Amino acid sequence: MMKIQCGECGRSFDVDGEHSLIDKGLYLTPRMWGYYGGFTDNNPWEEVRDREEINLCHDCCLRLMRAFPSIARAMGEGGHHPCSTDEPCCEFAWRCGEAPDGKDINVEIAALDKESNKIKWVPLNG
Ligand SMILES: [Zn+2]
Ligand SMILES: [Zn+2]
Repeated sequence: MMKIQCGECGRSFDVDGEHSLIDKGLYLTPRMWGYYGGFTDNNPWEEVRDREEINLCHDCCLRLMRAFPSIARAMGEGGHHPCSTDEPCCEFAWRCGEAPDGKDINVEIAALDKESNKIKWVPLNG
């Protein structure tokens, strides 16, 4: 078991499995940070390329997505690793299970229930 530190809050997370990245996190590589004429135009490319990747934990991803809804929209609804909990961990969660007939996969995404003001599971195509 190895640990990866969130590049924003600094908390460490146990990681294992095929990718060794933080569950429900985000992995950002220097390659996606800029372009000629862009925000990071003056950074020497060799230096940018050699910077460390940034891993963000679930909670820091929430801060990013809530601060910049355009990024959240680009990532898509119900985008992150499936939840196995009765209540969604956040508004970006999804889960799947067996449909009542036992055949089809029943995908549910998290959505805000305006009546209770809580996040609940709703069928993806419902
Ligand atoms: Zn974090
Ligand atoms: Zn979540």
